[in-house]
Amino acid sequence: MNDMRIAVLGAGTMGHGIAQVSAMAGNRVTIRDIEEELVEDGIDSIEANLQGGVERDKVTEEEKAATLDRISGTTDLSEAVSDADLVVEAVPEEMDLKKQTFEEVEAHASEDAVIASNTSSLSVTEIVSALDDPGRGIGLHFFNPVHIMQLVEVVVGEQTDEETAAFAEEFVEDVDKTAVTVQDAPGFASSRLGVALGVEAMRMVQEGVASPRDIDAAMELGYNHPMGPIELGDVVGLDVRLEILEHLREELGERFRPPQILRRKVRAGKLGKKTGEGFYVWKNGEIVGTSGDWGDEE
Ligand code: NAD
Repeated sequence: MNDMRIAVLGAGTMGHGIAQVSAMAGNRVTIRDIEEELVEDGIDSIEANLQGGVERDKVTEEEKAATLDRISGTTDLSEAVSDADLVVEAVPEEMDLKKQTFEEVEAHASEDAVIASNTSSLSVTEIVSALDDPGRGIGLHFFNPVHIMQLVEVVVGEQTDEETAAFAEEFVEDVDKTAVTVQDAPGFASSRLGVALGVEAMRMVQEGVASPRDIDAAMELGYNHPMGPIELGDVVGLDVRLEILEHLREELGERFRPPQILRRKVRAGKLGKKTGEGFYVWKNGEIVGTSGDWGDEE
């Protein structure tokens, strides 16, 4: 299965990573974005990733050259998808754009092509409903950074055919990742559980049960999590966390109700690592203290 033609739509954070791992597995890949410069930026990012791999002895010079050789770029949708066996879209997270993209892909792709979305939160069932043949639509939820993260959620929509799901699982294995198959439900498997842990951790800070540092240490040392749930929220961005919680609350109920402490931080512009303060205080990408009443004990 490693000599397929893959089209990746969107050359941004996720698109270039998906193109990279697909090409490394031996597939021919075309990346499509809406402007030439964005396509070039995506391919440059792949080259930089591969060069990093060469420097860390993870990738040979030959593998780097062969991988780049298998990748081409275009702004022409029809050129990208017309002979693809698999199309993976990684365009921005907007339902209308995803549906329109699926429709356009179906108009130009072969009838056997599988069409996948890298959506992290939208309903795959709704996205694939834009297709005349929704049985060939599926979710392939890669994680960031794609060339490092092992997990891919294969998200099976209400209408997705069994063959499509089997094809997607095989593709994930082929690109050296591990597939977790999940029925289309809000938050899939990963976000729902990850966010459930994060929201409870925030409530514990709010109730004064323990400091952010101690709550994180409990998960890092007691459960071997590489990063505690409070720190992870700061890294992801508290505004992003709040948005996901609002969505899961609407879909799944009050257990996902965002705590006041989170709303207050977002209103104050304390969004985490990217603004320099969230539950922690950050400087040059590192934690240098804890925000608010917990003082600066680090
Ligand atoms: P991004 O903004 O980095 O990249 C999106 C790219 O799509 C941009 O380069 C944009 O120009 C391009 N684009 C817009 N319209 C297009 C079109 N019609 N055809 C082709 N390209 C188009 O976004 P991203 O972070 O890579 O996210 C892409 C998708 O992946 C989203 O659905 C997002 O939810 C999902 N996702 C993101 C992450 C993450 O951590 N960033 C993780 C998992 C999943």
